[in-house]
Amino acid sequence: MKAKKYMRYAGQVYAKILLMIAVLITGTTVNADSSIQKISRSEELMDTFFTITVYSDNPETAEAAIGSAFNEIKKIESELSVYSGDSELARLNRRKTLESPSEDLKINIARALYYSNLSDGAFDITVQPILDLYNRSFIEKNSAPSGEMINKELKKVDYKRVILKDQEIKIGDDQSITLGGIAKGYAVEKAVETLRRHNITMALVDASGNMRALGKKPEGVWNVAMEDPRDMNNYITIIPLDNNAVSTSGDYERYFDDKMEYHHIINPKTGYSATELISVTIVTDNAFDADAISTAVFVLGEEKGMKLIESLPGVEGLIITREMEILRSSGLKEINNNK
Ligand code: ADP
Ligand code: MG
Repeated sequence: MKAKKYMRYAGQVYAKILLMIAVLITGTTVNADSSIQKISRSEELMDTFFTITVYSDNPETAEAAIGSAFNEIKKIESELSVYSGDSELARLNRRKTLESPSEDLKINIARALYYSNLSDGAFDITVQPILDLYNRSFIEKNSAPSGEMINKELKKVDYKRVILKDQEIKIGDDQSITLGGIAKGYAVEKAVETLRRHNITMALVDASGNMRALGKKPEGVWNVAMEDPRDMNNYITIIPLDNNAVSTSGDYERYFDDKMEYHHIINPKTGYSATELISVTIVTDNAFDADAISTAVFVLGEEKGMKLIESLPGVEGLIITREMEILRSSGLKEINNNK
C-alpha cells in the first residue's frame, strides 16, 4: 500500500529534477558585468519544486525579493491546495459552497471555466472525483478501477455546474474540484509580479516545468532545454525565453501504474487518462495561461490541440504524439531551428 504511493511520488520527482538540471546546463555563468550575481533558491511547495533564480548586483535585495516571492506562493498554496484539509479549496470541496472567496480562488476558477468553454470541455476542474478514485484503487488494491466505477464518478464531472459569483462559489453536491492544471502557473506569475515589485529585472521562476522569465539574463535570453519525455538524458529542443513563459504537461510527470496508462491528466469525456499525446509544451507571455493551455491541449490531442494553439494569438506549442512524432506550431518553427 505504502510502496505504491511512494512509487508514484518517485516517478514524479525523477522527471522534475532532470528538467531543472537541463536548465542549469544550458546557462552560461560568465557575466559581462562582474558585480552581478546569480542567486537561486528552491522549495517544495504546491506538491512540486519551485526554483527562483535572480540576477542582481545587490544580494540583499535579491534575497528579500525571493523571500517575498516564496511567501506569495505559500499563501496561494494555503488557499488553492486540494490536499491540505484546511485550504479554502478543500473547504469548498467539503461544503460545496463558499462565502466571501479569496481573489486568488475566484481568479483561478474564472480562468479555468474560460478554458473549459474554449476547449469544449477538455479542460475541466471537476475531474477530481476521478483522480480520487484512481488514488483509492491503486493504493488499496494496487490495480485500476473497473469501467463501472469510472462511469459512476464520471457523472459528477461537469464544469457547467460550477457557479462563480463575486461573493459565493457553488459546486454540485456530488462534485469536487482540482486546480492542479492551472494554479501552479498562477503562482509562478504572482511570484514574478512580487519580484518585479522588489525592483528585480532579471529572474526565472520554475515550478518544475511551468516557467516564467522576467526579462533576460545578463548574457541574453534564458535558454530552457525541453527534456525528451521518454529519454531523460536527451532533450528535444531549446526554447529561448525573454520575458515570457513555457509550460509542459506530460503523462510521465505523475502516474499511478507502471505503464503510465493511468496518469494525472483526465479526459473529462471518458473518465480515463488522456492517451493520444505524451507531452505538450506551450509558450506564451504568461505562466497562468501557459499552464491551463498545456493541460487542455494534452486532453484535446494532436489535431484539435494544434488547432486550439493556432487559434490563440501569441500562443505557440510543441506536441509529442504517442508515436514520438514532434509537431510544432507555426511560430515555433520559425524561432526554433537550432535543434
Ligand atoms: P502538472 O501539474 O504536472 O504541471 P498539468 O499542468 O498538466 O501538470 O496539470 C495536471 C493536473 O491538472 C492534474 O494533477 C489534475 O489536478 C488536473 N487535471 C487533470 N485533468 C484535468 C482536466 N481535464 N482539466 C483540468 N484539470 C485537470
Ligand atoms: Mg497545466
